[in-house]
Amino acid sequence: MMSLAAALQRNAQCKPNKTAIICGDTQLTYAQFDALAGQVASGLVAKGLQAGDRVALSCPNLPFFPIVYYGIQKAGGVVVPFNVLLRQREIKYHLEDSQAKYFFCFEGTPDLPMAQEGIAAFNQVAECEDMVVMTADQSQLVYNGIPTLSSFIAKQAPLADYVPRLEGDTCVILYTSGTTGLPKGAELSQSNMVCNALVAQTLMGCQGDDVQLVTLPLFHTFGQTVQMNASVLMGASMVLVPRFEPSLVLSLIAKHKVTAFAGVPTMYIGLNHCQSDDDTSSLRIAISGGASLPKEVIHTFENRFNVPILEGYGLSETSPVACFNHLDQPRIPGSVGQPIQGVEVRLVDISGQSVPVGEDGEVIIRGHNVMKGYLNRPEATKEAMRDGWFYTGDIGRFDDNGNMYIVDRVKDLIIRGGFNVYPREIEEVFMTHPAVAMVAVIGIPNAEYGEEIKAYVVLKEGADAEETALYEWGKEQFAAFKYPRSVEVRQRLPMSATGKILKKDLKAEVVEQQHSQ
Ligand code: AMP
Repeated sequence: MMSLAAALQRNAQCKPNKTAIICGDTQLTYAQFDALAGQVASGLVAKGLQAGDRVALSCPNLPFFPIVYYGIQKAGGVVVPFNVLLRQREIKYHLEDSQAKYFFCFEGTPDLPMAQEGIAAFNQVAECEDMVVMTADQSQLVYNGIPTLSSFIAKQAPLADYVPRLEGDTCVILYTSGTTGLPKGAELSQSNMVCNALVAQTLMGCQGDDVQLVTLPLFHTFGQTVQMNASVLMGASMVLVPRFEPSLVLSLIAKHKVTAFAGVPTMYIGLNHCQSDDDTSSLRIAISGGASLPKEVIHTFENRFNVPILEGYGLSETSPVACFNHLDQPRIPGSVGQPIQGVEVRLVDISGQSVPVGEDGEVIIRGHNVMKGYLNRPEATKEAMRDGWFYTGDIGRFDDNGNMYIVDRVKDLIIRGGFNVYPREIEEVFMTHPAVAMVAVIGIPNAEYGEEIKAYVVLKEGADAEETALYEWGKEQFAAFKYPRSVEVRQRLPMSATGKILKKDLKAEVVEQQHSQ
């Protein structure tokens, strides 16, 4: 199978002048992208990198990210992308846990001092041999005593040929908290990553003339596979946007005639609420994943932009795509579609038996997309992977036509007085309230019922709704065991770097408040 590095090299040969990367004022052709990645690869080989060595990469969506990612691939290394928001203690943990030999870190910004945190962590991890800082000023050769990327590649001619990798060789290690515990490194092979990107671009109907707008962080599996790697495999163009900002995204769609956009639901909510008269008619397809997409959001987006949103489902451990709505079949709002080609999805009860169609069960997955395991964690791997099946910790349901619906995460399920309450169902209904822009429903500890239901709401700009009015409205919508017993209006909700609402932070806040009372 063609490795990621081979795909880039092929594009550089077959379509050298095709635009590969656009970011701000920077434009790189495939020939330039490949040459820069080749210089990074030469630098790594000169440092003594051996095939299979791990290289950490902490960088927002700037051209540095694909250049270094593919440079590591060309040198035969394994990329370990870090969440750009990690602080010193967390970076140290990730460097140690992944046993990274080299560390590439972006300098950061005044409000996100990435390199400061990175250097402090690097200095505490003796096994990590070298660090390189990527600076916006490319004439800078040293950053706080650490060589910059410019000096790292200065004397390097691009590596003449990529180091070959086998299908089962590890390609990337993606850190995820999985269902429980500390972040674990999901070890994904070349064939995991290549197959998933190929299937994703086929399902999206992606061609070489597509232009993808990439604002999903590239360190996360969704943007990395479905956008960056799919783009490189197709020889398409990508517009990198380091920070999601709805008006900027809409103007860039118009400016670069973007054809494909991918985002998490909170991004679609942001786009729906953004006033703009940019011409977005070039858009052909929009993809959503990472969290459930409320039907209300789909309808508003499709009416306004006249583009279908196709929802998919997956996890870091499954490269990520496991289910997807197919372009050539009627799209079903609320459903994540069907298992992708070559991947089996089953729903099982607590004893591991398949549940009948229409009933809820834990989603388990088997196929070319399932990771090799969690790096150096045989126990966690054994727990998550049984008889070749990966246990996701998500609850799903199939309909008669084989379409899957994600009901919720096992751990987000609220059990109130013995009744199961799925936050997602309540969130879907609250999203239909005219004043509500965003909502998160969680279970909070309660002496009488075990858990009580609480809704956090962000109002639409200019909208006005009292918490008590929202509470009364919710009470009318649901059975008595299901409606939120409290509604709190917030300016914003805690969000991950990917844009997923962090319910665990809301829960932790409540527990802390309860303890201090
Ligand atoms: P991550 O490993 O960060 O990609 O997170 C994976 C988790 O995101 C899954 O286990 C699901 O809980 C959630 N997820 C992904 N896609 C969807 C979707 N379309 N609907 C609901 N939840 C989703």
